[in-house]
Amino acid sequence: MALLFYSQFDDPADWGKHLREVVPGLDFRVWPEVGNPDEIEAALVWKAPEGELRKLPNLKLIINLGAGVDSIVKDRSLPAGIPIVRIADPDMSRMMAQFVLAAVLRHYRDFVSFAKAQKERRWHYIHPREAPTCSVGVMGLGNLGAMAAQELVRQGFKVSGWARSPKKIEGVQSFHGKEGLSSFLAASEILVAMLPLTPDTDGLINADVLAKLPRGAKFVNVGRGRLVDEDALIAALRSGHISEATLDVFREEPLPPTSALWGFDQVLVTPHLASVAIPRTASRQVAENLRRLKKGEPLLNVVDPDRGY
Ligand code: NDP
Repeated sequence: MALLFYSQFDDPADWGKHLREVVPGLDFRVWPEVGNPDEIEAALVWKAPEGELRKLPNLKLIINLGAGVDSIVKDRSLPAGIPIVRIADPDMSRMMAQFVLAAVLRHYRDFVSFAKAQKERRWHYIHPREAPTCSVGVMGLGNLGAMAAQELVRQGFKVSGWARSPKKIEGVQSFHGKEGLSSFLAASEILVAMLPLTPDTDGLINADVLAKLPRGAKFVNVGRGRLVDEDALIAALRSGHISEATLDVFREEPLPPTSALWGFDQVLVTPHLASVAIPRTASRQVAENLRRLKKGEPLLNVVDPDRGY
């Protein structure tokens, strides 16, 4: 079987090495060296150029090289009727949980205040609080959100979560749907956004939503930039309603130098790397889907393009 690889962010040599270990004899081709397009049956892609996959007449499977599928499901040039699967790898979830934990600890342990005091050569004692007095709300309880929420529970935080459907995660208070959003927000001193970008979530975190957070709340976004109305966030940061933020994703990436978000001492900007697909572990999952494709068995981690995630 021939598999075509495309990504500007991931190392094709690393993927090729790990995939060949788990799929002996795999014909691994890296775009633009497509060779005979008739031979390509699967494509492992991250943000492939529009129209490229249409040039593969025998393509049977599209594998999104990552967890977020917003860019692939909105690509109208994709050949119709070909299943899309995504990477949903526990090691990727762990990497995300580590980032979320680091961000939450940055806010909870007052690192922002200490960084400011250090600039001023000022000894600034803040008596540490106990974790159960700090409430963290995780928006999105999928593969990534659920593991991050569990990690926060392990650290003793008071954790709640919000999803479309009710969830049972030990130690996590579950809220769901539009009707559960206001109570969830009111209970979130630190809000972590880990939702997929879909027509329903586009711009969801607007001025009204931010206003429902407790005054002085902290905000962490590791989902997608478009979840957030950035002007509303900037206004909330200026007014102090949102006191601190850690932002990994933005409406426009790279974040333009003119963005006001660069200018806040209390905002940490990171360049969209909270979690990445890990070839060593995720290649096993790709291999399993290639095996299933060959045998005609149900695929794993199938994306529902209509739902958008
Ligand atoms: P999943 O698809 O596994 O989970 C999505 C979660 O969001 C589910 O709990 C789902 O609810 C919930 N959700 C979706 N739509 C709504 C809605 N309208 N209202 C309320 N809840 C909703 O996704 P993952 O956990 O794998 O990934 C989440 C996102 O993280 C990705 O889509 C991507 O955008 C982002 N990401 C960011 C990375 C980074 O480096 N910054 C890296 C990887 C991913 P339900 O369970 O009820 O369906």
